[in-house]
Amino acid sequence: MAKLLITGGAGFIGTHTSLVLLEAGYDLIILDSFINSSPIALKRVSQISGLNSTELARRLKTYTGDIRDLDFLENIFKTCGQEGNPIDAVIHFAGLKSVDESVKNPLLYWDVNLNGTKTLLTAMEKNNCRTIVFSSSATIYGKAQSIPIQETAKIQPINPYGKTKAAIENILSDLTGINPNWRIACLRYFNPVGAHPTGLIGENPLGTPNNLFPVINQVAINKLKVLKIFGGDWPTPDKTAMRDYIHIMDLAEGHLAALNYLQNSTPELITLNLGSGKGYSVLEVVSEYQKVCRKKLPFEVVNRRQGDSAISIADPSKALTKLGWQTKRTLNEMVRDGWNWQVKNPKGYLEEERK
Ligand code: NAD
Ligand code: UDP
Repeated sequence: MAKLLITGGAGFIGTHTSLVLLEAGYDLIILDSFINSSPIALKRVSQISGLNSTELARRLKTYTGDIRDLDFLENIFKTCGQEGNPIDAVIHFAGLKSVDESVKNPLLYWDVNLNGTKTLLTAMEKNNCRTIVFSSSATIYGKAQSIPIQETAKIQPINPYGKTKAAIENILSDLTGINPNWRIACLRYFNPVGAHPTGLIGENPLGTPNNLFPVINQVAINKLKVLKIFGGDWPTPDKTAMRDYIHIMDLAEGHLAALNYLQNSTPELITLNLGSGKGYSVLEVVSEYQKVCRKKLPFEVVNRRQGDSAISIADPSKALTKLGWQTKRTLNEMVRDGWNWQVKNPKGYLEEERK
């Protein structure tokens, strides 16, 4: 079975996708600096996979290091090659993802996201590995002019984080010009939420969360006093902003579908929205949470957050046509699984890290 390098494989999307790929039979090399994740997450992936220790030792290897370190990357490619089992493809999650932080520290974001990816691509070129699935983001559409958003919509990111993602998409496009053997999938995620249904892995924000689902989780366990709803004057039916939330397991399966597509078609660069095509308002999400966790969640409507848009909903039809992939899970499952993860791991992976 093919061998994959998963950069950032210990993170939120990386762990769920690694699990799906392991279950599909792939051998994995996970590379992570653990700057925003925990080795416990990988232990949990192993546990859910049900593989025994011999199989795990053979099929799942972990390297701790930074994607900006070319020698480190080259060493991984060389070691696999020498073992007679070279890396066939890369799923590239590693990077920094906070919009706020990117505004405060743009140089760090350009360095990690852009230079990190450039270094990774250099190592891939040198080692004749030319298949990559890249984590792009719906953020690159900025304030979209029409809804649902198609892949052909204008790219106009409004923050440094989104600009790094757009720049990386450009670099990937340039690569196909110098070598037509590149197989590239740029996956533009909408809003990934929820957790694996076992509640063993999930989103583990370090520090104060900014995203809606982790914030609601913390309000529901009284860690945060109140949910601040950013804006009650948006042009939507209930006046709160609407997003296209996608269950993390649907997103993980989207990566498997993209990889299968790349491996079974002639080399190309394909760009796809990964979303459900359905939008929910902040108030609709709060209402679903209240039903699932059976309590009233305190909220107050405050001013709009800078840089937010009224509505972001994907047109996911290209992913269905090209990959045969579409989301299967409902908002209720997103909330239920996200809440289950929160209840079982009120401090994320921290408690097990301390053992
Ligand atoms: P995450 O922070 O949970 O995972 C990223 C992983 O990369 C972490 O484990 C982190 O330790 C690792 N990492 C960071 N910098 C590194 C470096 N220099 N070298 C090696 N490892 C490094 O984030 P996530 O939510 O799993 O996101 C994965 C990818 O998807 C990111 O590229 C992100 O920008 C993108 N994305 C995420 C979302 C989202 O809402 N979660 C939406 C769109 C796109
Ligand atoms: N949101 C909110 N309060 C919060 C966090 C988010 O009202 O504490 C809103 C936010 O304005 C947006 C939606 O919830 O309309 C989703 O926000 P998130 O940060 O999760 O994703 P993104 O802004 O990247 O779409």
